[in-house]
Amino acid sequence: MSVSEPLQLPVTHLSGIGSQSASRLEKLGIHTLQDLLFHLPLRYQDRSRVTPISQLVVGSSALVCGKVEFIDSIQRGRASVICRIADDSGSLSLRFFHFSVQQAQSLKPGTLVGCYGEIRYGYAGLEMAHPDYKLIQSPEQLTEATLTPIYPLTEGLPQTTLRKAIKQALSLCLDKAKVTDWLPVSLLQKHRYPSLNEALSTLHSPPAHLSADNFSSGNLPALKRLAFEELLAHHLALLQGKLHYKVWQAPAFKLNPAIKQQFIENLPFQLTNAQQRVLHEIEADCAQAQPMLRLVQGDVGSGKTVVAAITALTAIDNGFQVAVMAPTELLAEQHFRNFSAWFADSPIKVAFLSGQIKGKTRQATLESLADGSAGIVIGTHALFQDSVQFQNLGLIIIDEQHRFGVHQRQALREKGQLNGLRPHQLIMTATPIPRTLAMLNYSDLDISIIDELPPGRKAVVTSVISSERRPEVIAKLANWAAEGKQAYWVCTLIEESEVLQCEAAEKTAALLAEALPSVRVGLVHGRMKASEKDAVMQAFKNQQADLLVATTVIEVGVDVPNANLMVIENPERLGLSQLHQLRGRVGRGSQDSFCLLLYQTPLSQFGKQRLTILKESNDGFVIAEKDLELRGPGEVMGTRQTGQLQFKIADLERDTSLLDLIPDAAQQLYQQHPENIKPLIERWIGNTKHSYQEIA
Ligand code: ADP
Ligand code: MG
Repeated sequence: MSVSEPLQLPVTHLSGIGSQSASRLEKLGIHTLQDLLFHLPLRYQDRSRVTPISQLVVGSSALVCGKVEFIDSIQRGRASVICRIADDSGSLSLRFFHFSVQQAQSLKPGTLVGCYGEIRYGYAGLEMAHPDYKLIQSPEQLTEATLTPIYPLTEGLPQTTLRKAIKQALSLCLDKAKVTDWLPVSLLQKHRYPSLNEALSTLHSPPAHLSADNFSSGNLPALKRLAFEELLAHHLALLQGKLHYKVWQAPAFKLNPAIKQQFIENLPFQLTNAQQRVLHEIEADCAQAQPMLRLVQGDVGSGKTVVAAITALTAIDNGFQVAVMAPTELLAEQHFRNFSAWFADSPIKVAFLSGQIKGKTRQATLESLADGSAGIVIGTHALFQDSVQFQNLGLIIIDEQHRFGVHQRQALREKGQLNGLRPHQLIMTATPIPRTLAMLNYSDLDISIIDELPPGRKAVVTSVISSERRPEVIAKLANWAAEGKQAYWVCTLIEESEVLQCEAAEKTAALLAEALPSVRVGLVHGRMKASEKDAVMQAFKNQQADLLVATTVIEVGVDVPNANLMVIENPERLGLSQLHQLRGRVGRGSQDSFCLLLYQTPLSQFGKQRLTILKESNDGFVIAEKDLELRGPGEVMGTRQTGQLQFKIADLERDTSLLDLIPDAAQQLYQQHPENIKPLIERWIGNTKHSYQEIA
């Protein structure tokens, strides 16, 4: 048998794993012995020593050994059995809610019992509910030489079965052979990482002298090494995805300086240096016969749309069509209006397509795309339905990409193929992601940054105010509206509960309407139909309402230059970057603009410190970096967002310091060991139902 062969054996090769257990393991993505080795413990129990009962600490788990004093059934409340045990130092109750007669009979007074569980206060002193227990002859039988791993499970698969299987896999693969280490020795030496075999054996059966702290702090070389390897695998998978796409042919666009110049001269403003620089980067990509995959990051208001429009112009001038996709109906319509105005004097026809467009209009639009008479189509994700056929799609522009996860982005990439040519892709986002995190989110893209706002923009003056001053703020709104100015009032709640969020907005709108009889109050929230939302937004834009009460649906949305005041309730519940996005809805005109962060009291010192960052900075990148520092990467990347990466062992919070090391390691692999890349990705990502699979 060759050295690496046992790794590929199916799990059924192991004793104790039949077809039923195998199908349960499959749900965890485990098919082979290698998969078992990379199924790592979530945490550990310390069963290496027995704790005297007098030293037990409430809330912690311990291994205890004692003699049964009595056993009694309790009928009060929920029926249960109490078994009192005692050692030399004290006594402890074991409580069982589910038990068999046999079980109760075996716990006779005088029997020696070993048990492991969490200590809590019970009716009569300390107790353990449903401990793991066994009858023993002597305490020595009880202790284990290593920490006991607790593995992630799936229904019907007991911890003990998994533990036994992994033990066998370890002895088959690690003791008798070796698992191939895809990280080069020089890399391991540089970071002082243990070999793969050593790391795996430490994590599956850690020596008892290691404490749980070693694992939670991430300071264990074995843990670090595997987390590093996993992060590297994800980074490589993204890079491979990019390479995979770049082998396709794309139309190479020729730039027509005269046409571009004419378009720019017709704009009511001059492009900023940053816009021009980013345009050059885009144009260089589009001049290649490989598809562009470029992300343009630029703060709210930095002027990404016009950059997209100029890129679209080049595509059309070269005889290709352009699709512009926005994440919401509102935003799509805004783009449609902008593009229509910009191309009004040209022969270029701009079409609109969303789920709302039906019947004859839809049919006509589809035809204009299929026969090529429409040069640009703007819409929502409805653009990528199968029924939409293009004559000659050469460029896809995706706006506000943070609404789409990595996976959706990759799914989209597979569409839009035509005559063997793939369209160029331009992706735009206002959500700045700190550099370190971009590596795990955007490595499949080239990045351009518009790091300059158009001149004359005034910073939004932000105040952090206690909600006790709400009446004052409301009074201020009356004056504001009396001067003919408009304002937003944003109700936020934890995102999971859209229903509650909408209810809060409804209540607030009613309350404000009552408190401010002279103010016309509008309401927009996520549970309204798209057409209703649009009607409200349009009315607000037409100044038919003075105050717009909204949920966070207006995060990206309509530009209303006359609305220069935003009140945000409960800002402490949102991430700083999200607050910055919201705030970006004001400050779009030339007037002074204001944002009032109306926090709930009491707010911790830390909470206040966070909000103060918004008061002090109007730079999305600075805010994102601070957010990362204060809240950690999990929160910044938004665990609630769709398409988030899932890791087996790496923990972005704990392992932040590893991220900086990844790009160099990736380079080293590409230069010195390119053949290791594919197996490395497969080992960490390959067997799970992960959309990297098809591209790796
Ligand atoms: P975002 O980057 O947030 O998508 P937009 O593209 O919506 O920003 O631009 C915001 C506003 O700034 C728009 O009204 C746009 O016409 C205007 N704008 C864009 N570029 C410039 C510029 N160079 N000078 C002045 N205004 C500009
Ligand atoms: Mg925009």
